[in-house]
Amino acid sequence: MVQKPVLYIVIPCYNEQEVLPITAPMFLKKLTQLIGDGLIAEGSRIMFVNDGSSDGTWELIRALSEENEHYIGISQSRNRGHQNALLAGLMEAKELCDISISIDCDGQDDINAMDKMVAAYLDGCDVVYGVRSSRETDSFFKRTTAQCFYKLLSKMGAEVVYNHADYRLLSARVLSQLANFKEVNLFLRGMVPLVGFKSTCVEYVRAERLAGRSKYPLKKMLSLAADGITSLSVKPLRLITSFGVFVAVLSFIGVIWAIVSALCGETVAGWASTTCIVCFVGGVQLICLGIIGEYIGKIYLETKGRPRYIISDRTYDE
Ligand code: UDP
Ligand code: MG
Repeated sequence: MVQKPVLYIVIPCYNEQEVLPITAPMFLKKLTQLIGDGLIAEGSRIMFVNDGSSDGTWELIRALSEENEHYIGISQSRNRGHQNALLAGLMEAKELCDISISIDCDGQDDINAMDKMVAAYLDGCDVVYGVRSSRETDSFFKRTTAQCFYKLLSKMGAEVVYNHADYRLLSARVLSQLANFKEVNLFLRGMVPLVGFKSTCVEYVRAERLAGRSKYPLKKMLSLAADGITSLSVKPLRLITSFGVFVAVLSFIGVIWAIVSALCGETVAGWASTTCIVCFVGGVQLICLGIIGEYIGKIYLETKGRPRYIISDRTYDE
C-alpha cells in the first residue's frame, strides 16, 4: 500500500486572539477527521505562523501546542505581512510534509473543501486552488475592487486564477520549487501558476469572518495589488514606450505644422522655432525614458533570479 501523505495546514495569524480560540478547534476537528478517514497520515499537523502579533496570539499558539501535539507554531521576528508569513510557514513545512494547505485563520474559507483538495492530490494533482464560488459575503466595495483587480492583472499579462486567494494545496515538490523563486516582493497567488505542475480548482463558499476585524485595510490591499502587478509584469514600462512613440509622432506633426505656418508668414517671429524644439524634445525624452524603462524592466526581472526551467518528471530516478 502507498504511504498516506503527511498534511501540514499552514495558517498565518496576525493579532488574531479573538478568532483563534474559535477556529483552532475547527481545524483540529478537520485534521482528525481526515486522519480518521484514512486520507492523511497521523503525523499531520496544524502549523500556525505568528506574524509578529502585538496581542496574545503567540501565547495562545504556545498554549495550543502544549494542549495537543497536532498543533505546532512558528513565529516571525516581527510583522512582515500576510504573504511573507505564509511563505515562512510553507518553507518551514516543506521538509516535513508531503502536502501543505494554506488557509486564513479567521474561518472565512470553508475547511470542508480540504476533503476535495486532498482527494484531488491523491488523484495526481500537485496544486489545488481553492476558488470562491461567489462573493456575496463581501461588501460591495471589496467585491468590485477585487474584480477590477483580477481584470487589470490579466490585462497586464499576469496569470492568476480568478477568485482564488491563498487557500490552496501545494505538494512538497511544488514547495521545493517555490523555494527557488528568490523574489522579495511576494505575490504568492501569481507565483504558484509559474511553478507549473498539474493543477485543478475546488470551489467553496466564503463566509464572513467569525470574530475580530480584517487585517487587510484598504492600504494593505492596494499595496498587495501594486505588488501583484509590478512583480508579475513589465507592461507598465512598455506602456511608457508606446506612449513615447505616440507623443513623438504627434510632435513630428507639430513640427511640420509650425514650419508650414512660419513659411506662410502666419506667425510671430520665434514661435515656430520654440514650438519645434518643445515638440521635438518632448517626444525624444519620452522615447528615451521608455527605452531606459525597457532595460530597467530586464534588470528587474534578472535580479529576481527566477529558475529558468523546472523539471516535473523523469523516466529515470534522480
Ligand atoms: N495576516 C497576517 N499578517 C498581516 C495581515 C494579515 O498574517 O500583516 C493574516 C491574518 O491573520 C489572516 C490572513 O492573513 O489569517 C488574512 O487576513 P484577513 O482575514 O484580515 O484579510 P481579509 O480576509 O479581510 O482579506
Ligand atoms: Mg479574512
